[in-house]
Amino acid sequence: MTEKKAIVYVDMDHVLCDYAAGFVSHKAKYPALAFPQSKPGLYENLDPIPDAIESYTWLHEHPKLDVYILTAPSIKNPHSYAEKRIWVEKYLGMAVVENLIISPHKHLNKGDYLIDDMPSGQGQNNFEGQLILFGSEEFPDWSSVTRYFKCKIES
Ligand SMILES: [Mg+2]
Repeated sequence: MTEKKAIVYVDMDHVLCDYAAGFVSHKAKYPALAFPQSKPGLYENLDPIPDAIESYTWLHEHPKLDVYILTAPSIKNPHSYAEKRIWVEKYLGMAVVENLIISPHKHLNKGDYLIDDMPSGQGQNNFEGQLILFGSEEFPDWSSVTRYFKCKIES
């Protein structure tokens, strides 16, 4: 009998992608705009968070895990949907594009873990599994997250 894999969701902004730094440089391009994210180019040009690519790849390739990206779109900015897809292909490849879920209602996805920097706002607080709050004291960075999973699933 094969063991059931744990389902893990990983957020994009502030978890895989450095939205904060990207926003500052996009704002510098459009200083007059209150919402510079309304202009294309922000989402697809975000830099990865340190260790995010290596850590996501480790999770993705782990035989005991079934890993998906679960990101909320910026619903007023239709280009955010396409740009998130472009970013995932650029940094993680087509195999991960297959597992890209863009939804503003994260609690509707069934699963065991959600790695997200926000405790609520897009359904995180109603997610049925465990919320791993990225950027918190317990999980300040990717090395703390991978250490946690190593402990949890490799013991
Ligand atoms: Mg986020």
